[in-house]
Amino acid sequence: MSSVTERDVIVVGAGPSGSATAAFLAQKGHDVLLLDRHQFPRDKTCGDAVPAGAVELLWRLGMRDRIEKSVARGELYPLEGMMLVSPRGHELHAKFNHGAHGADSYVAPRIYFDALIQAHAVASGAEFCQAQAKEPLVENGRVVGVRAQANGSVKEMHAKLVIGADGVTSVIARNLRPKNTQHLDSHRAVALRAYIEDIEEIPKEVEFYLYKDILPGYAWIFPIGQNRANIGLGMRLDFFRKKKYNLEKMLRDFLEMPVIKKRLLRGGQLRDMATWQLNFGSQQHMQHVFDGALLVGDAAGFINPLTGGGIHNGLVSAELAAQVADDALKTNNVSRAQMQVYESLCHEHMWTSMRNSFWMQRTFMRFPILVDFLVKRMKENSALAQTFLTKL
Ligand SMILES: Cc1cc2nc3c(=O)[nH]c(=O)nc-3n(C[C@H](O)[C@H](O)[C@H](O)COP(=O)(O)OP(=O)(O)OC[C@H]3O[C@@H](n4cnc5c(N)ncnc54)[C@H](O)[C@@H]3O)c2cc1C
Repeated sequence: MSSVTERDVIVVGAGPSGSATAAFLAQKGHDVLLLDRHQFPRDKTCGDAVPAGAVELLWRLGMRDRIEKSVARGELYPLEGMMLVSPRGHELHAKFNHGAHGADSYVAPRIYFDALIQAHAVASGAEFCQAQAKEPLVENGRVVGVRAQANGSVKEMHAKLVIGADGVTSVIARNLRPKNTQHLDSHRAVALRAYIEDIEEIPKEVEFYLYKDILPGYAWIFPIGQNRANIGLGMRLDFFRKKKYNLEKMLRDFLEMPVIKKRLLRGGQLRDMATWQLNFGSQQHMQHVFDGALLVGDAAGFINPLTGGGIHNGLVSAELAAQVADDALKTNNVSRAQMQVYESLCHEHMWTSMRNSFWMQRTFMRFPILVDFLVKRMKENSALAQTFLTKL
């Protein structure tokens, strides 16, 4: 790989959003360089829940066979439904719908899931390089590449178009977005994830716990089979800072709750505990398009403010970005004016759900009793429960 060659596209970050964008663009015949500061496989702090819609988007990318083989190897754990537990302990169960084309939802530990998509990007024709982007290269107000550290030295890598897919701490977003449009704490969250090795899981069902001390947020148990689960909790950043909470202590307290404690086979064996941030897509007027650059996934901030889910939206943004980038590259015009349609498309596909989810998050936080009321009411109406829960 030469540092002076101009590529069609440099994608910074090979998580689901970056690798999917790279795969879509490589399949359209573009010369794509995919950078990540890590080699794959690598872990990513996450609840690992991947909805059927995201799986079907990956099928469209040609990944059905890879996903089925990964399921057969026992890496991805298929789900059938979910349970929501209200502050007063009422339980609401719902079966998941399959995707429009019959796909399952999964708990997909990111160490496996992300490596599948990254490998698919490479198989689709993208070149992968382990490199840490330091900043976008900007000439005359236009992004023309990135400055990145690889093999111990800093290089300039040039491209017609840069896609920032480098997650919540994106150096591409931080450098390109005007300072007054960074994410506010009320549209961000912090969460802690661990794997538990000794829990009696509810087979094929993800569990969400909403209780007084954690709202606006929740604790989760997402099974991966054989008495193991992804377990964690998260809450909105402004409340977390105000209340000066300690997430590790909160997780230990969660394990001490009688309903959880009685399911622990050896006292609660935790591994790989880690904390990470989430940027919600509920903050309006965020800029995702620049002269010579686009943002996708967490770098743009497309996480749902109620569920904390960002993989599906990251993949949706990848598909939209690839369409817009393909048109821009074909017409040799990568200006913001040409590519601004990407912001409209993201709005069209995601905004209604972001706005409604933010509204629900705020309402549940203010009136926890409403969660109890809704859970009790919906228990008596399984059709409503299914619609509500599987939309979460
Ligand atoms: C605790 C927690 C639980 C969550 N649970 C869920 C869940 O259950 N389901 C769900 O859908 N979503 C969940 N999310 C959100 C989800 O993790 C993200 O939305 C998702 O990872 C976004 O994918 P991405 O590809 O945009 O970014 P990422 O997955 O963050 O990938 C970014 C990539 O960029 C690389 N990178 C970063 N900086 C640089 C740099 N400077 N140079 C080169 N490479 C760089 C990183 O190494 C990484 O590989 C959770 C988040 C957290 C924090």
